[in-house]
Amino acid sequence: MRQSACLYPGSFDPVTLGHLDIITRAAGIFERVVVGVLVNAEKNGAFPMEERVAMLKKAAADLPQVEVLPFSGLTVDLCRQLDIRVLVRGLRGPGDLESEMRMAKVNGLLLPGLETVFLPSAGGMEALSSSLVREIASLGGDISALVPRSVLPDILSHYK
Ligand code: ADP
Repeated sequence: MRQSACLYPGSFDPVTLGHLDIITRAAGIFERVVVGVLVNAEKNGAFPMEERVAMLKKAAADLPQVEVLPFSGLTVDLCRQLDIRVLVRGLRGPGDLESEMRMAKVNGLLLPGLETVFLPSAGGMEALSSSLVREIASLGGDISALVPRSVLPDILSHYK
């Protein structure tokens, strides 16, 4: 069956320009993009869940087909709940490939018919990660080229 919606799951701790690029491109392909923000039971995120969700909503504010939802538990359970059968994941390079392939395989076994679509990082975004943003921001460095402009004040105030 052809699909009009996708789920883009991740930690987004915090959202970067790399994430926003994937969201924007997914919104160009799918009519509905749900960004699922994972509540990790094992470790607390650097940013509280509400802040991660609020920043993503701000970053994607001009994309009406994008929704942001916190979730815990299995990604496939959220897919079932939302009746979504496509996962979107970004690929920065070969380093991401092995674990992403494994996750795609497992998710397909847990929910037959679920497809994972990989979008390659846009040029210049391959090196971008939330952990890099956190590290630079915590050391007082300039992260303005790494994160959406609309969330820059939120991230900076977190490290004040
Ligand atoms: P996770 O903890 O699930 O890896 P992240 O928030 O780090 O969550 O990333 C969510 C998704 O976005 C993953 O598919 C990841 O590969 C992708 N991603 C992260 N940074 C980038 C980037 N700079 N370019 C493209 N995709 C990215």
